[in-house]
Amino acid sequence: MTPDERHIKRINRYLRKINGLFDDLVRDIALLVVKQRLTGKIFRFRDYQKITTQVSNALNTYHDNLFSSIQTYTKYEWDYGNAKVSEILAENLAKIKGKVSGLAYDVKLKEISTHSQNKKALEAFQERKKGKFTVSDRVWNITKQAKENLEIAIDDALSEGMSAQDLARKIKHNLNDPDKLFRRVRDKHGNLVLSKNAQSFHPGQGVYRSAHKNALRLAANEINTAYREAEQLRIMSNNDVVGQKINLSPQHKVYDMCDELQGSYPKDFNWSSWHVGCKCFRTMILKSQSELITEINNSQNLSPEASANFVSGVPDNFHSWLSENRETLEKRKSKPYFLEENKEKLKHLL
Ligand SMILES: [Zn+2]
Repeated sequence: MTPDERHIKRINRYLRKINGLFDDLVRDIALLVVKQRLTGKIFRFRDYQKITTQVSNALNTYHDNLFSSIQTYTKYEWDYGNAKVSEILAENLAKIKGKVSGLAYDVKLKEISTHSQNKKALEAFQERKKGKFTVSDRVWNITKQAKENLEIAIDDALSEGMSAQDLARKIKHNLNDPDKLFRRVRDKHGNLVLSKNAQSFHPGQGVYRSAHKNALRLAANEINTAYREAEQLRIMSNNDVVGQKINLSPQHKVYDMCDELQGSYPKDFNWSSWHVGCKCFRTMILKSQSELITEINNSQNLSPEASANFVSGVPDNFHSWLSENRETLEKRKSKPYFLEENKEKLKHLL
């Protein structure tokens, strides 16, 4: 298994844990709600004052656990990305071990481990804003949405005398198909009542009606981006890396933009994925062994441009993709992430 395949497996493991957080929330809420006398109005937590505090405690716990899970797993994959790069660079160096002075070799090796200590950059990454929002803001939004999701699911699921376990099961079942749930509750209470109470069921483009799905997507995306970002910083900071190649995953089956954009890119091309859920991975393009040997023996640390392998621009297929999609891109409200991230470098093309 390659490190990138392992990275995907690790993400799936984290997502299973995050899945459990929502289950915990549903269980806690079901336990509280099942003891309440129903009013016949559309279900809202605020109409049940005896449990208001406990409900907000449960939601706060969900928020805190989701947020700290994302931070923890982001750090894990940040470190994993760093370790992967260090290993590849050290292996590459090991191939020329007998051909350079022992001292120079040690200096090079030390440089690799020094670069891997980029803790400040991890903090900046975890606190960054994407669009207008930080991860913390996004987790708050998801928690608010989860509250409304639960109210609507409970409205449909709860009947007096049922057990908390049954209620929890029914809530989860209801939230698996938010569209159907929404229609049922609308038929029961009428359109007007429901639409006032269910803003979160009309989220914007690219957002799920299910808070839980949004949580999983946010987590997956953050954790993957952390891995890529750590990798990117290492690629940029090491002179022996002279470019990057973005490859299709072996699991890639359906032809899409990934096929059209794969190829060799400059090392400072900021890349984490082509699209949400993209499984492409990158490899580093390094100086040749003979270049490295000559350089080290001359006590030099030449810039990447000096290498015959240096990648100076985006590939031709990137240009054709851009011109083929120009019209569609101009109509879009938000540009793909990789275009935003490389705006300066691609200025002459955009
Ligand atoms: Zn892809």
